[in-house]
Amino acid sequence: MSAAKRALKRYFGYDNFRPMQEEVVKTVLQGNDALVIMPTGGGKSICYQIPALVMEGVAIVVSPLIALMKDQVEGLRANGVAADYLNSSQTTQQQAQVIEGVIAGNIKLLYVSPEKLVSQDFYYLLLQLKVNLFAIDEAHCISVWGHDFRPEYTKMSYLKKQFPHVPIMALTATADHLTQKDIVNQLGLEYPQEFISSFDRPNLSLTVAPGKDKFKTILGFIRQRPHQSGIIYCLSRKATEGLAQKLKAAGVNAAFYHAGLSADERAFRQEEFINDEVPIICATIAFGMGIDKSNVRWVIHYNLPRNIESYYQEIGRAGRDGIKADTLLFYSFSDVIVHRRFIEESALKEVSHAKLERIQQFCDAQICRRKILLSYFGEHLEEDCGNCDVCKNPPQSFDGTVIAQKAFSAIMRLKEKVASGTLIDVLRGSTRKEIVSKGYHQIKTYGVGKDIAHSDWQQYLLQLLNLGFITVAYDQGNVLQLTEQAKEVLFSERQVDLVHLSSMKSEPIVKPISDSFSQAENLFDRLKKLRLGIAKSQRIAPYLVFSDATLHEMVKIQPTTELDMKLVSGVGEKKYQMFGKLFINEILQFKDKKKQQSRKSAESFYKTYEYYKQGYSVEEISSVRKMNPITIYSHLASLYEKGADVDVTVFFTTTELERIRNAYQSLNHTNNIKDLYLYMDEEIEYYKIRLAVSYLKSFN
Ligand code: ADP
Ligand code: ZN
Repeated sequence: MSAAKRALKRYFGYDNFRPMQEEVVKTVLQGNDALVIMPTGGGKSICYQIPALVMEGVAIVVSPLIALMKDQVEGLRANGVAADYLNSSQTTQQQAQVIEGVIAGNIKLLYVSPEKLVSQDFYYLLLQLKVNLFAIDEAHCISVWGHDFRPEYTKMSYLKKQFPHVPIMALTATADHLTQKDIVNQLGLEYPQEFISSFDRPNLSLTVAPGKDKFKTILGFIRQRPHQSGIIYCLSRKATEGLAQKLKAAGVNAAFYHAGLSADERAFRQEEFINDEVPIICATIAFGMGIDKSNVRWVIHYNLPRNIESYYQEIGRAGRDGIKADTLLFYSFSDVIVHRRFIEESALKEVSHAKLERIQQFCDAQICRRKILLSYFGEHLEEDCGNCDVCKNPPQSFDGTVIAQKAFSAIMRLKEKVASGTLIDVLRGSTRKEIVSKGYHQIKTYGVGKDIAHSDWQQYLLQLLNLGFITVAYDQGNVLQLTEQAKEVLFSERQVDLVHLSSMKSEPIVKPISDSFSQAENLFDRLKKLRLGIAKSQRIAPYLVFSDATLHEMVKIQPTTELDMKLVSGVGEKKYQMFGKLFINEILQFKDKKKQQSRKSAESFYKTYEYYKQGYSVEEISSVRKMNPITIYSHLASLYEKGADVDVTVFFTTTELERIRNAYQSLNHTNNIKDLYLYMDEEIEYYKIRLAVSYLKSFN
């Protein structure tokens, strides 16, 4: 195991295995089979890559996605690992070259497509090699129960029969029991150790927002996260195009992607996204399979996903590097209806309806969302997660009986014959032609809901639907109908609790990482830029140069020596040789610039001080120095703090000082002037607070 740990540091730059990785590696090194179930981003690759590196011979890795194969091999090579692949995208000549290298023993990891693995030729090749491990990635493809069944996978049973002494490791991110059993049986694994890791992804924040003002919300969300890469999933191809267009018009660098594009075009757009050239992509769910990009920082669902599995898989594409990433789902009534219609036309009606209901419950939840997600996957989370919108901003209920009664009464008077749009129009007293021509303006409840906005009505109706008061007749033009419970509300004084819409913030409350340290961000941006340049010249994806996690650690430690740089997680031998000095240089330049800046600002303080000592007033100094008076006041405050001979007490009265002192004490001696300013109801000027705080600090 010590060799394994050394390889981990040398090739990948990591100091420690994640807990389950270590166990898996041990199992394989002892020659045993293993079944590894880990969520996306859990770190499955290391589980077979490390044994492949420390054992004699070559490891064969089966991977169904050709694009991913290339990516993995490039990543390994960038780490100094001899890896290659064989698949149908290569010419015969290229394949022959690879095979030659493998036979000569120059390759430690050989990636192959399932078709290749089960071919006759490949079997003969295997006979000539010393294979130390078969790793079957995406092993759920073996099962018809899984969502990606591939017939070639079922032929892989020959491996165990022909090579009984070579350990087999099956890996997947699909957890369900049936699929697991299938994998073990069909591959003929012998007493495999099963490793099932938690599906929790604590670094992903979870937010569900009402589906209104979506574009505005998205724009705000993106502007809070400059230069970050993200995916926006839409239900329809048209929506992806429209949204990308609108974003571009707003100055956001975005593209769209869906299965209607040609294969070339799709490959091109995917590549642009992976290489951080177009950071944002509006896509249908066709996008994402086979993308390993570790620095996707956020995922937005423009529409409701059809079930929790899809939702979890899609948000799982964010934050694979383990760093904080944000997810946002827009929940709206119209999406529920669209899904229902799809399901009605599909084969697996009952299951699909039930699954749609589960995701609706998730969206409506008033308890920690992560608890609900994990319980869906059979896990139990003890504590609330603190990283979902419910945890951060618990919903508040109110007595919504009157609202409910208005809606129910209108539904009844409209004889349960209208869909939600018309209902809301009636409630809001619309003079639309259809309303009038059908005589709906004459019913008693016409216009009783004027005080509630159209989009708010939609949200309330959604709540009432999910509370079981109304149902939607999907087979009759989506008209709304009342249940027995609704009749109790109308006739038996049953109370209805609704959630305040204002407490369901549409702005996600999650703050981007960049907010807290803008200076550090600056270095991060510089390192990112450097990374992009290197990636371009090396023709690999930026995250393969160094992951976001590695860059963040560099920002934190700011290493400037070889030793310090190699201590950064993710900096292995080869990477250090290739890029280490470049990054050290960038950090040195950054530090230098900072030093110059602080020298400059010291000089600037000093100039202010000179004028001050000569008896100039703040206004005069600000006019000769062409600087804002606020800046001059802040110079004086800093000078005072540094012990210069400045009398700050002339700038505020004793009454003001007392008030500031009280606020300062109440806010636990905060240095945040803005907090103090707001605390005192904006009644004392900013600069006075700044100076008074310097004064008060001198007594601490
Ligand atoms: P999976 O295949 O399970 O989706 P990956 O193998 O792609 O996950 O790993 C996800 C991320 O975690 C990668 O960026 C990888 O470099 C990183 N990682 C894996 N193992 C470790 C470790 N022991 N220490 C630090 N980072 C790790
Ligand atoms: Zn939570």
